[in-house]
Formats: sequence, C-alpha cells, structure tokens
Amino acid sequence: MLILDILSLIKSYKNFMLNDSDTNLPILIIGAGIAGIACAQKLQENGEKVVILEARSRIGGRIESKKIDSDFFDLGASWIHGIDHNPIWEITQKNHIETTIFNYDHSTYFHENGQLFSDKEVQEFEFYIDKIENLLSQTRQLSAFDAIQEIIASLHYSGNIFSEIYLKKLLLSFFERMANDPFATNLDLLSAHYKKYEGYFQGNEVIFPKGYAQVVESISKTIEIKFNVDVKRIKDENNHIKIVDFDNKIYLASRVIVTVPLGILKKNYIEFSPPLPNDYIHAIQKIGFGSFNKVFFELEQPLPFRLESSFENISDFYWNDGDCFNILDLSEIYQKPMYLMLFGGEQSDFIDNSTDSEVSDFIFSRLQKQFDRIPNKPKKMIVTRWGADPYSYGSFSFPSLNHSDDIVKVLQKSLRQRIFFAGEHCSLKYAGTVHGAYLSGYETAQMILKEISSTGRSKT
Ligand SMILES: Cc1cc2nc3c(=O)[nH]c(=O)nc-3n(C[C@H](O)[C@H](O)[C@H](O)COP(=O)(O)OP(=O)(O)OC[C@H]3O[C@@H](n4cnc5c(N)ncnc54)[C@H](O)[C@@H]3O)c2cc1C
Repeated sequence: MLILDILSLIKSYKNFMLNDSDTNLPILIIGAGIAGIACAQKLQENGEKVVILEARSRIGGRIESKKIDSDFFDLGASWIHGIDHNPIWEITQKNHIETTIFNYDHSTYFHENGQLFSDKEVQEFEFYIDKIENLLSQTRQLSAFDAIQEIIASLHYSGNIFSEIYLKKLLLSFFERMANDPFATNLDLLSAHYKKYEGYFQGNEVIFPKGYAQVVESISKTIEIKFNVDVKRIKDENNHIKIVDFDNKIYLASRVIVTVPLGILKKNYIEFSPPLPNDYIHAIQKIGFGSFNKVFFELEQPLPFRLESSFENISDFYWNDGDCFNILDLSEIYQKPMYLMLFGGEQSDFIDNSTDSEVSDFIFSRLQKQFDRIPNKPKKMIVTRWGADPYSYGSFSFPSLNHSDDIVKVLQKSLRQRIFFAGEHCSLKYAGTVHGAYLSGYETAQMILKEISSTGRSKT
C-alpha cells in the first residue's frame, strides 16, 4: 500500500512538475460545473495552464441532460432565467443551440374541489400576491414566513369573490410554494428579503429541447479535465498547493479554485490545511442550501384539465390538504402527455429519501382526490434526488435568515492569493442559477489574471 502510494505520488509529481519554480505549476480548478468551466475558459484564453479535477465521470455538475429513447430530460437546470443580457443566452446564440420559450409564470389555479379559478378569482388572487410582495420590502421580520403572515393578517380584504379566511389560507400556502420553488426551502427558513436575491435577468425564459448540457459542452471543448478525481484535501504548502484525492493521488498547483457545491463545503467533505478561517466557515454555514427535485411523468392520456395545452398557459397550481402544488405541461415540447412537477424544501427532502413508487403514490393519490379521470400511476416517471447526490448534497443556495451581501463577499476573497472559491453560491446577485455560477467562475478568473499581471509572472 505504502509503495503504491509513493509510486502514485511520484507519478502525480511527474504529471505536474514543470521546469522551474512552483509558480509555473498549473492552476487547478475543482469541479467541472459551469463555474469551473467558465473560469478555466477565461484563464486559458489568457494563456494560463489550467486543469479541471472532477469527481464525476461527466461535465456539467448540476446541469445534466439525460437522453431516454429520443427524448431529452434536464435533471438539473432547465431554464435560462431571462435572456436579456444573460451570458448563457449569448453562449446559446453563438453556438446555435436550439431553445424554446417557456415563460412558466403564466398560470392557472384550481381549488381543492378541482374547480378552475374564475377570471375574477385569478385577478383578485394575483392582486393580493403583488400587494404582499410589495409590502415585503418594508418588513422588519427576519423570516419570510413571519413577514408574510404579518402582512396577510393586516390586509383589509374588501372583495366579495373569496371568503377572507379562505383567501388568506390560499395566499400563505402559495408563498410557501414560492419558498419551495425557486428557493429550495421552506418559508420559515427563507429571508424575508428574498426578493432582493431572486437573481433573474429580464426577458423571456427559455429551455433546451435537446438538453442544457449543450451549453457546457460548447464551452469546454479545449479544456483539460481529469474525471473521477474526488478531491479530499487541499493543503497550502506556502509556495504551492497540494491537492489529494480519495485514491491518494496528489496534484500540485500554483493556485486552486474550489467550485464544488455549497452542500459539499457544508459537509466538510474537503479538508483544508491550514483550516479555513472563521469568517469562511461562518459564511459556509450561514448561506442556505436546500433540496429541489424534479419529477417528470408521462401519461397515456393528457391530464383531463389540460386538454387544451398552449404555450401561453402552461403552469397549473392546485391546492390539496392546504398545500399548494404546481404542474408544468410539457406536452407541446415532447409531443405526448408529459408533465413536470417541481418540489423544494421538505417535500423535496421527502423525495430524496423515497422510492419511485412512494413518489408516484404521493403525487397521484393527491391528484386523484382532486380531479376525475386521473390514473393511479404514470406510464413513465423520472425522479431526481439532488439532496442525496454525493457530489452536491442539495440543489442550490438561497438567502436564509440574516442573509447579507457581506456573508457572500467573504467567499469572493482569495485565501493568501492561492485558494479561491467560485460557484453559484458565491454570486451576490444571481445565486442559485446557471448564469450566477458562470459569472462567478468568470469573475474569479478575472481576479486571478489581475493578480498575476500585477506580480508580473510570465505565462507558462
Ligand atoms: C433540480 C435543479 C434545477 C435547477 N434549475 C435551474 C434552472 O432552471 N435555471 C438556472 O439558472 N439554474 C437552475 N438550477 C441551478 C443551477 O443548476 C446551478 O446553480 C449551477 O448549475 C451550479 O453550477 P456550479 O458550477 O456552481 O456547480 P456544479 O454544477 O454543482 O459544479 C460543481 C462540480 O464539482 C464537482 N465536485 C463536487 N465535489 C467534488 C470533489 N470532492 N472533487 C471534485 N469535484 C467535485 C461536482 O461533481 C460538480 O460537477 C437548478 C439546479 C437543480 C439541482
């Protein structure tokens, strides 16, 4: 064992030993998600030698497109959230990647008895949603739950469409649903100021009929990536960084950029030596990171309440046992009765720990209770479990109670100009998104290039 370790150590040294000083070692990036790839691309464009170490056997991280028969399913990210000035849209355009507009905030609503909201009910319901959101900016509460409950209690309902008690219940559960999606948490764990951190660009939302992975593939072609390298230790040895993986292989670097998900950092999966300073540890603990899962399901027949699919009206909200659920109709895209449900927070934790048939029962028993002509199980179903994924341990970050810009800024600092962090959780404005991760990787590369040019080191 010891001999093997020494041999692999010598081999690894040979791999990365360049001619002269340690400053000529490559820059190593941990993680081949979009942040790592964006960072590598920018550094390489500027003449730096870069290698990515990736634990999985594929690129993309939380962007994962799975082809089943002739259909593509995005198990992680699906949407470009707002195409105006969005760097992901620019990549998409430059590489002629096919997209479809999918503005999933065009909604219909169903009562617990399965009845569709009337136009007046929709109008009034959405009026109060906007009103509550506007009042949120003035709240002194820490949690979104306390803030929304307080605002709802203070609302003077003057309409005659809903009963006041019923409307208030609908509103609270609708906001609970908003904490689940897009914040991957529950309302009581979400900052009351979450609106500030929504992180979307303006413009249409688009998805990729042939998979989001095309985006990462298009920008990673010239980058050297070592797969199945599961990093366990990062040691700063003063004039270089030593990285050790779970096979005890050693990689030497002049600098390292750590782009692993926040869930990995929270679990202390990677050991830092010397240990991370307290402000980093505090930031890692403080920033929220939750579970968000997708369930795609195909039916033999279209859902009875979705017979008239249209691109303008594709997101159905319904209430069951007081909880609000959402179904997206993908039938136009797949040309068959295909649907997507998104779960966050506690419901998503349940999915992480359940079998497919338990998930199917959870969804279909509720649908059957509410609507007629619902089968007891789907024809096909695809379930994600990001919270149980050993290279993610969750789906994306969210602003938890007491969240502040300063907490995120800690992770944007370098440690002794040798260890850097990047990834969606390091983005101030766009956390939890693909564009946020991309920009974080890109900006970290810019920071390193600036530092290299100020110290005048020649390029390898
Ligand atoms: C279900 C779901 C739906 C989403 N929907 C959207 C959406 O529609 N639109 C949107 O903009 N965003 C969406 N997101 C968020 C988006 O996917 C992420 O914000 C973004 O992809 C994160 O990129 P990243 O590079 O920061 O991290 P990752 O993509 O997670 O990359 C980090 C990489 O590090 C690797 N790694 C982990 N541990 C180690 C280790 N020890 N050693 C080596 N490598 C390691 C991982 O395998 C991974 O490849 C969604 C996410 C999920 C999970």
